[in-house]
Amino acid sequence: MIDESAGARWLDLLATLRGRYRSRQVDLLSDPAALAGFLAEVGLPPRVAPTAADLDAVRALREAMHAVLRADEEGRRPEAGDLALLTDAQAAFEPFHLAAGESGPVVESPATTDVAVALMVTEMLGDLSGPRRPLIRPCGDDSCSGHFLDVTGRRTWCSSARCGSRVRVRRHRSRAVEST
Ligand SMILES: [Zn+2]
Repeated sequence: MIDESAGARWLDLLATLRGRYRSRQVDLLSDPAALAGFLAEVGLPPRVAPTAADLDAVRALREAMHAVLRADEEGRRPEAGDLALLTDAQAAFEPFHLAAGESGPVVESPATTDVAVALMVTEMLGDLSGPRRPLIRPCGDDSCSGHFLDVTGRRTWCSSARCGSRVRVRRHRSRAVEST
């Protein structure tokens, strides 16, 4: 599902809805199994499989997280409803549990989907308030709502395969029009 990590789990979660600023969106979290697959990919597979209700809650929370990130980016007051969703999600917070595995320390899986997403909200707030904040950048395609952590200072696209090539094609077409 993740073709190019955004560099943080919560940013990968935001990236599961593509094209927020376009007329058509693609939601990669299409059903509870897709949500389970995503959580496994980011290393937070819940011990209890996600339900349809979990999926609805995660989708709503994801959009609230995106709205809060945008408010932070634009230096404006976030909506109270969005903040409430983040705060409610954090109520399920449980710290990572560490166990002694045969071949080294093991960070145990979160008990439920609620715990997994509470961890991601906490990671988001840590990133927004900490030293990684300046590294969070929007995708170079302004019709894309993706964000990523630009650790090299050279990354332009959330996905060079999708967004990078879409913008190259668009530029090519507009040049072709100008020259006719
Ligand atoms: Zn993008």
